[in-house]
Amino acid sequence: MRLILLGAPGAGKGTQAANISEKLGIPVISTGNIIRREIDKGSALGEAAKRIINEGNLLPDSLVNDMVRARLNEQDCANGFILDGFPRKISQAKFLEEENISIDKVISIEVSDEDILDRMTGRRVCRSCGKSYHIEYNAPKAENICDDCGCELSIRPDDKIETVKNRLEVYHNETEPLKDYYVKKGILSIVFGCEKVEDTVKAVNKVLEA
Ligand SMILES: [Zn+2]
Repeated sequence: MRLILLGAPGAGKGTQAANISEKLGIPVISTGNIIRREIDKGSALGEAAKRIINEGNLLPDSLVNDMVRARLNEQDCANGFILDGFPRKISQAKFLEEENISIDKVISIEVSDEDILDRMTGRRVCRSCGKSYHIEYNAPKAENICDDCGCELSIRPDDKIETVKNRLEVYHNETEPLKDYYVKKGILSIVFGCEKVEDTVKAVNKVLEA
């Protein structure tokens, strides 16, 4: 099965992708993860990407398309894959078509902007060990201090409220038109992101079995 997951940043695509991956035995192709690896390596690609992402903007097609094509050509994608974070705009969906990469299903996970802002701006991460917290839903025992290593917690640049707002705006303007695009192809399913992750997983499973 070849799948695309759509959804605003913070809608929980990553969690759903991991569940589907386990259920169907196909890999998650997350452009975010590929890029983060490049950033960690400090490559030129990573440095260029970091600047653009930290402003909440989308990476140019020239940078992302080649990366995705190369990844989808790898052996583990032979029986299918889950695309998470690609395509993010119509031009990228057209790129998949031009490359004759057919898609079976597109699942859009819908969460209100309000809930997303609430979720994302509360995230904190340990500067030292990388453990993540949420000031409301998964708070550390001592305010702003990591339970595991006692170091100070910080806000990732892309979780800052201005950045999240910008990312949501970009999502609505650039990515959301993809829903219409895939409705016309008859392969879009909408799943409403529930408060409990398990409920969203159930709804996604129903779409997969349909
Ligand atoms: Zn820590």
